[in-house]
Formats: sequence, structure tokens, C-alpha cells
Amino acid sequence: MFKESDQIEKFEPKVWLSSPTMHGEEFEFLKEAYETNWMSTVGANINEVERLVCKKIGCKYAVGLSAGTAALHMAVKLAGVKPGEKVFCSDMTFSATVNPIVYEGGVPVFIDTEYDTWNMDPEALEKAFELYPDVKVVVIAHLYGTPGKVDELRDICEKHGAVIIEDAAESMGATYKGLQTGTFGKYNAISFNGNKIITGSSGGMLLTDDKEAAEKVRKWSTQSRENAPWYQHEELGYNYRMSNVIAGVVRGQMPHLEEHIAQKKVIYERYKEGLKGLPVRMNPYNEKESEPNFWLSCLILDKEAMCRQVRSECEPLYIPETGKSCPTEILEAIASINAEGRPIWKPMHMQPVYRMNGFVTREGDGRAKTNAYIAGGATGKDGNPLDIGMDIFHRGLCLPSDNKMTEDQQNRIIEVIRKCFE
Ligand SMILES: *Cc1c(COP(=O)(O)O)cnc(C)c1O
Repeated sequence: MFKESDQIEKFEPKVWLSSPTMHGEEFEFLKEAYETNWMSTVGANINEVERLVCKKIGCKYAVGLSAGTAALHMAVKLAGVKPGEKVFCSDMTFSATVNPIVYEGGVPVFIDTEYDTWNMDPEALEKAFELYPDVKVVVIAHLYGTPGKVDELRDICEKHGAVIIEDAAESMGATYKGLQTGTFGKYNAISFNGNKIITGSSGGMLLTDDKEAAEKVRKWSTQSRENAPWYQHEELGYNYRMSNVIAGVVRGQMPHLEEHIAQKKVIYERYKEGLKGLPVRMNPYNEKESEPNFWLSCLILDKEAMCRQVRSECEPLYIPETGKSCPTEILEAIASINAEGRPIWKPMHMQPVYRMNGFVTREGDGRAKTNAYIAGGATGKDGNPLDIGMDIFHRGLCLPSDNKMTEDQQNRIIEVIRKCFE
């Protein structure tokens, strides 16, 4: 239980969840765009950053776009999703993973989460194919920079002839069995949004090994102009191309990707060490299989250490209890010293906008969805909560993970978290 009297000196300036970290080269490339007057969606920065990303990730083609969301939209279009068609999708993720399915008229069906990496549960995906054998597209996100169970998910998709779209927006630079995320799907997306591991202030990319697909995205994203003397259009177009100014920022960030990952890993390890002895665990990953990019450090409280907490659609409430805590209390405690944490992504199947969409758990019987989540709600045959995503949302939170946070600042955050359990 955190007491106001526990209040420690506030950070000034604020310690952010994850903010842009500039190095100087970004400004040089940006200035070059200005001085050469390539203030447009063509130019040397775009070409170079597409080349650099292909080299780093190990894909054949990268198309610079205005956002990761635009890349996901283009991926859904490439996968040929038609109005009314169901598409399987990660459930505990940012809404941008899902919305592009709906832009194309598709109907997302959410697949529950597993505890080992906090990503799509292969068991639930298998169940989903039993329920909807005709589904041909699966959108898989790697949450907070931790690769999901790629082999298992890929085997299931192959067995059912489904195409994978990988949402690697949060996991750029993370590897699974030595390969970069963003290479496992047929069409893949990364993001250069301001809070990602590297940034262009905005921007994203579609990654693929399919030449024809890359060419289509180049055309669609620049209003689908045909090769003619006038503006000739045979297909629907979009204004989704990356700006050469933004590309300059990304270009300057690229050499610093590994450095950012190393800094984020230090932060993760320091939390892990500093929180030892408390009834909490860090967001997990399988050390034998994957190396995350450690974009956000998160923690999850043991069930027994939870004080009572409920969340309505827009407000939380909890009852403080000696020796126990909850994400709401910890987030308030962190905020009281001017540091920024965040709840776990609220699962998509619990979002009002997607209330009518399907949700499949590992037992595949739809019970979880009809049981609005309460602590100790519906449990599966294995005794675990049936709705794992909501359980992680209920007990988990994202910690301040900015790579400019000092060791001293992080120690104070750890101290505040410790006080929550006194
Ligand atoms: C950030 C993010 C996106 C979208 O990227 P933008 O560049 O902000 O459009 C998509 N999916 C996930 C999981 C993200 O975190």
C-alpha cells in the first residue's frame, strides 16, 4: 500500500515511458533534404533508409510509408482480405494492429494470449481454425518487443493455408532463433512512431520478399498513378508514402538501433534485479528462442499480492491493503514522482468498438467473452483464468522505460514500487 507520506522528491523533468532519443545525425540528413530541396515524398533519404532496413532486417524489399498503420493497411490489402471475411488477430495489442483489417471490410476475430511471451496463443489459434476453417489471414503482433511463439504459430498457419501478416511495430531489432522479427510473415510492418525503439517522429515500412507486392505498395501509396502522360487511375489510391524529411530522421537513427536495444536491456535487467523479493515478475521471454528489443519493461503482480481493483470502461478503483498492491496503485505512485507508466494494452475483445467480434480462447468455447472479466472469473480446465489477456491486463503494467532514464532515477522508481507492497 502506497501512502502519500511516502512521497519521494519529484523528477524534473519528467521521466517518460519511452521518448525519442536523438543523436545529431538525424538533423544532418534532415538538413540535407532541406538544402537540396527534396522536401517531398521522393529523395535520397527514402532510398537509403529502405536499403538500410532491408540490410538490417534481412528482407528483400522495404517500402517507406507515412506510418506503421499504413503499412499494416497495405499488408491487409495485399493479403486480399475482402469485405465480410474473418481475419484472426492478436488480441492483447495496440488497436493499430487490428483497425487496418476493418479498413478493408474484414472482420477481426481475436485470439487469446499466452503467459510465456504475452503474445498470440498457438493453442487458441488452433481452436480458432476448428471454429472458422476458412480463415486465410492471421495478423500477429510481438508485444513490447518480445517475439511470440513464431514456429508454433507458423506451423498452424501453414497447415491451414493462411497467410501471416507480422506486426513488428514494437519489436524492430528483436530476433527469434537468430532471425529478425519482420521476416516471418508474407507481409510485415514496422513503425517509426515517436515512442518506438527508433523513430522518424512518425513513419513506418512494409517489409516483404515478394517483389510484385512491394511494387504494388509503391503504387498504391502514391495514389495509384498509371504510366500515362496525365493522372490516370485504374485502382484505388492512397497518400501513404514516407516523407524524405522523416526518412532523414530515420536514416540518422538507424546506426543507433543496437545501442538503444542495449540501453533498454540494461533497464529491464535493473528492474528485474531491483524488484527481487517482491511478488512480481517481469514481462517474460524464452531466452533459448528469442532476444527481445526490450522496448518496454513491464511487470505482472502475483495473484495473491493483488489488492482489490476494478476497472469500468473509463475509470479504475482499488481498495488499498497493507502488504498488497495493484497496477492502478503502482501507476499512481509512479505518477506521483513525475514518471510515466502505462496499463497493459487493454485486450481488443473488451473494447466497445469490437464488442461484436469473436474471441477465441485455448478452450475455444466462447465462455470468456460472455463472462465480463472479474478477478477470479471463468477458469479453464487447467485452473488458469480462461481469458488470459484480461488477466494480464488486470495484474500487469508498463514501467517507465526511457533509454535516457538514469540509474539513479530508475532506483527511485524501484523504491516507490517497493513501497507499494509495504
Ligand atoms: C505503434 C504500433 C503500430 C502503429 O504504428 P504507427 O506508426 O504509430 O502507425 C502498430 N502496431 C503496434 C503493435 C504498435 O505498437
